Amino acid sequence: MKTRDIAATEPMTLAFEVTVSSVQELSPNFRRITFGGYCLRDFGVNGDTRDLRIKLMIPSLAEDGAELPLPVFEMTQSGWYREWLAMDPAERGSMRTYTVRQSRLDSVYPEIDVDFVMHFDADGHGGPAANWARNAKPGDAITIIGPNNRHAQCYTAEIYGGIEWRPGMAQRILLAGDETAVPAISAILESLPSYMTGHAFLEVPEAGDFLELTSPADVEITWLARGAAIGRSRPHGELLQQAVRSAVPEPGWVGIKASDGGAGPEPEDVNVDVDILWETPARMETAEIEATKNPDMPAGAMPFYAWIAGEAAVIKDMRRYLVRDVGIDRKQVAFMGYWRQGKAEL
Ligand SMILES: Cc1cc2nc3c(=O)[nH]c(=O)nc-3n(C[C@H](O)[C@H](O)[C@H](O)COP(=O)(O)OP(=O)(O)OC[C@H]3O[C@@H](n4cnc5c(N)ncnc54)[C@H](O)[C@@H]3O)c2cc1C
Repeated sequence: MKTRDIAATEPMTLAFEVTVSSVQELSPNFRRITFGGYCLRDFGVNGDTRDLRIKLMIPSLAEDGAELPLPVFEMTQSGWYREWLAMDPAERGSMRTYTVRQSRLDSVYPEIDVDFVMHFDADGHGGPAANWARNAKPGDAITIIGPNNRHAQCYTAEIYGGIEWRPGMAQRILLAGDETAVPAISAILESLPSYMTGHAFLEVPEAGDFLELTSPADVEITWLARGAAIGRSRPHGELLQQAVRSAVPEPGWVGIKASDGGAGPEPEDVNVDVDILWETPARMETAEIEATKNPDMPAGAMPFYAWIAGEAAVIKDMRRYLVRDVGIDRKQVAFMGYWRQGKAEL
């Protein structure tokens, strides 16, 4: 069978029924949960996982606190997601998006690690995923929706849909994100080729959340702590925005030609309270990419690429700064709202 035929017959994603192998406190606000299961032999993409996203199905709780069984769907059946959405939210469970931080899929017992941000309000209430992660213990069962490696092997990781990190020919990069993007940035950094240079900025709640990070690339990694003390914590995203502004200071940077006043086009507005802020070069239509091409660059040259993810309103501000004020081509930046302040994922 040709690879094209395999891609056409295999579902892109599968539901993996896994159990918690271990739980590790990484820092005050990060908890690593390792999921294992023989079914994970069918999980994976072609190459490094980078910022590979997965969906976790979090069971609803009955009044006595017991987990309700999750609805079972055949992933090959089209329309399962719509069917799931139509179910009573009190019974269907919650679907939340996370990143594969690390994987050991070739092991006898395959495993993946997911790093959860432990976010709770002043009364200790979190969303379904944060609550589930707080109570997780070895043996707990959960369902992960993730890539079917038989389908994904037909594509390079570069073009696989669940991975947004696509730097193309870029040699100089900018990675910026809040704590929810730390797992993705960490995995991307580990996968970089040695010829890449640039900056990675990671904003986290407190200095205790600075994690050990390595990269074969010549990328300067900067951790930013908002500060733990109540009343003294910096607003979410403030430090990240300052860091990005100082690393990408003005038009003319990375060879961008300054037009009138150095400004680029005003990006179309996204109401982050209603719409998802998700703008990645991979999602742009060819015509749009053509329209944003810099005529001063040789064809195919993409010397710079930025990947920015975190709280949607913060990301929206950075998008305006980089696209309008600095004038960076939109095809050179991936902007992703990973969560929205005050709004549950679904
Ligand atoms: C592609 C992608 C990858 C992601 N990877 C990760 C990952 O690896 N690790 C990770 O921890 N998160 C990750 N996230 C973010 C995660 O999906 C959200 O934080 C999600 O809202 C958590 O679900 P919940 O059930 O805990 O909270 P929800 O029910 O969705 O939200 C409940 C309340 O909590 C608030 N809230 C949600 N997240 C946070 C937060 N981090 N800090 C403060 N308040 C918050 C919401 O604004 C809302 O008011 C990722 C998101 C995307 C889109």
